[in-house]
Amino acid sequence: MAAERLIINNLLSKVKQGNKKSASWLMRMIEDGGPQAGAILSRLYDFSATAHRIGITGWPGVGKSTLVNALAKAYLDEGRRVGIVAVDPTSPYSGGSLLGDRDRFRDVDGHPDLFIRSMATRGYGGGVGKATRGIVKVMEAMGQDVVLLETVGVGQDQVGVSAIVDTTIMVTAPGLGDFLQSLKAGVLEAGEILVVNKADNPNAEQTAADLTALIEMGRHPDGWKPRLVLTVATRGTGIDDLLKSIRDHRLFRQQKGGVNPRHKIAARQEILDMIREQCLNAVACRTGLYTRLPDLVDQVFQGRQDPLRIAQALLKECNLCDDPSEDPSIEDPSGE
Ligand code: GDP
Repeated sequence: MAAERLIINNLLSKVKQGNKKSASWLMRMIEDGGPQAGAILSRLYDFSATAHRIGITGWPGVGKSTLVNALAKAYLDEGRRVGIVAVDPTSPYSGGSLLGDRDRFRDVDGHPDLFIRSMATRGYGGGVGKATRGIVKVMEAMGQDVVLLETVGVGQDQVGVSAIVDTTIMVTAPGLGDFLQSLKAGVLEAGEILVVNKADNPNAEQTAADLTALIEMGRHPDGWKPRLVLTVATRGTGIDDLLKSIRDHRLFRQQKGGVNPRHKIAARQEILDMIREQCLNAVACRTGLYTRLPDLVDQVFQGRQDPLRIAQALLKECNLCDDPSEDPSIEDPSGE
């Protein structure tokens, strides 16, 4: 345990100096989710969050990577340190990078002030899980000024992303009617900036007009009215407007005290995640769970036992649960 703490402290102090290799190690440990992951996440709280975290989300093919590439380039040109976290459940994956990252971020790949980390899996809780949050925190700890978090999807996913970033950009492309439907279902409130990319397409004006009407109809409880920006990411058109909207939103947040109300959702999720993880670790430690697990799996697999009873029995061994047979909380809903 002490040796483990030493390794983590050592890695963290190297990360603080901007060491990319150590950052990769920490990220790998967080993604693996073992008992050290909680300790790392806890230590990462000691670092004050100063990076501007920007979420870029939307369906596959709308041009997110091209936009991230353009934004990263613009920030790097300003002399800022940039992190890219790309969460993509569909791409082939190898050791922290998606196959094709080089290609996707070709304008900036290899820049000394850039750090790219890709994740092939989506966490639970809608698009971004604990590991994604941890990886963003490592980026902050290593001193990146801007962290661009790219995720695929619409709907619930975006709510997940917006809970951990400061500014959420929802990207669409002309002619995606279903996207408009999902915005009507309330997702609009989760994004601060809407981008119609591929504005070189003749339908772009219509899509922009539809979105403008939606923005006008929407509720803006904290006073920020979502911005609409048209871009042609492949040519860099509209990127200056997008950067200005991002900056304006950041200023708006700072004037409001700096906190995004949606981060409350993330804080709640983090507490629950930690309790879940700590409970599992405690039970595993006291019952020798992982040695017994293969046999327990067989019992459930063969229909001799049910998982709830197993969980209750293990909790009882740790004095964390009453006698399962006396559990009053499970009743026959039919009342028979
Ligand atoms: P992602 O899946 O959302 O990350 O989308 P990509 O960034 O990979 O882009 C998908 C395709 O759209 C690529 O072939 C891009 O070159 C192309 N693309 C991206 N932005 C634009 C744009 O503004 N106009 C046009 N015509 N094509 C674009």
